[in-house]
Amino acid sequence: MHNHGHMKHLFLSLLIAAQTAITPPENKYSPADDVKLGLDAKAEAEQQLPVMRDDEVTSYIDAVGKRLVASIPPDLRHPEFRYTFQAVNVRDINAFALPGGPMFVNRGMIEAARTEGEVAGVMAHELSHVVLRHGTAQASKATKYEIGELLGAIGGAIIGGRTGSIVAQATQFGLGTAFLRFGREFERQADIEGSHIMAAAGYDPRDMANMFKTIEKQGGSGGPEWLSDHPNPGNRYDYITQEAKALRVENPLRDTHAFEQVQAHLKALPRAPTTEEATKNARTRGTPGGGGTPPSGRVEAPSSRTQTYTEGEVFRVTVPSNWRELPGSSAVTFAPEGAYGQVNGQGTFTHGIEIGISRNESHDLQTASAEFIDGLAQGNPRLSRPGRFDRVSIDGLSALRTVLTNTSEATGRDESIVVYTTMLRGGSLFYVVGVAPRDEFNQYGNVFQRVVGTIRLMDR
Ligand SMILES: [Zn+2]
Repeated sequence: MHNHGHMKHLFLSLLIAAQTAITPPENKYSPADDVKLGLDAKAEAEQQLPVMRDDEVTSYIDAVGKRLVASIPPDLRHPEFRYTFQAVNVRDINAFALPGGPMFVNRGMIEAARTEGEVAGVMAHELSHVVLRHGTAQASKATKYEIGELLGAIGGAIIGGRTGSIVAQATQFGLGTAFLRFGREFERQADIEGSHIMAAAGYDPRDMANMFKTIEKQGGSGGPEWLSDHPNPGNRYDYITQEAKALRVENPLRDTHAFEQVQAHLKALPRAPTTEEATKNARTRGTPGGGGTPPSGRVEAPSSRTQTYTEGEVFRVTVPSNWRELPGSSAVTFAPEGAYGQVNGQGTFTHGIEIGISRNESHDLQTASAEFIDGLAQGNPRLSRPGRFDRVSIDGLSALRTVLTNTSEATGRDESIVVYTTMLRGGSLFYVVGVAPRDEFNQYGNVFQRVVGTIRLMDR
């Protein structure tokens, strides 16, 4: 019997030792950079998203958030960070946190949760991305961009959603990806660190795993958004449950009253719109920082000399050397002088290509391509529908190509649009849109084809 007690003690200390240590990844930015980037992106998010002013909901989210923040381990506390928690009145199941602390939790997430622990689980995961500084750590790898140039990309990633005009399609493009969409290792880190923070805050870490299951089950139009930003590193449920065994929940929270009350309150409110519905109006008001003049239409022929660009960790492309790279707020366009500008507050171009990634839910290339073109048509009402798709390839991947016609909003001239699409590993659609006036398409069509031939995909 004596032995048994001793064994038990040993066993317990082994369990405690089994808690996984998490080391923040390398980062070339300072914590002050995180704060600056996060605040700018926060201002943009507040402009674009319907943030709830409802005290009952706001104070609830704030209380859960503060409870978690108070449990951040000392070595991960950044005194300059400012943690804020806001609810967004949309029904998609999603949440995101920005560098330096601002967090947004969709109403749909709170409504889908079965316990407060499940809400806290998603928030602890998001909070862990912030304290481990994953956003700027990932951006550290995209060395060519400086802080100022990162900002638009974050905004684009926030408001992009799944639909919208040609501008909004490039939602996960390049650096936007770097801030809000993480790889497997960072996801695993956020899960593990999140489970530690939860336990210290009085929540059962297994509720995080439960919430991920709930999100996966939702599927359809409400679920995969969060999952595509936070891909499952594989056996997520199992390793969180395993980690939970090594953790002691401090002063477990037993009062479920506040959670029940906020859910009842939300149920009584009018149904929330989707993010797509909610941001449509914000988007047609124009791209942030817009203004400017329409394209002049006086354009030099494509140079036979070329220049190569590497975009984040997404792709590399070689274009005529007299085309400029226009990272813009959410799309990357390569176009010659005189071919780009603003019409009705929207970025537009008459000659050149736009390259990006679009989220989609169908993993079938043909369907995803048709949906993508539907999205283009929303911002370009005179765009024709695809007649047929030709089978081509992009960097060895099977791809589709189709030619459409449009009337330019900028010049009133007829233009030809060629769209190339292929599917990336994660199920995102990679696209290239080439634009030229119809009577110059003989020349430009060949250039577009050559440019597409130079594309090398890193995220394939
Ligand atoms: Zn994540």
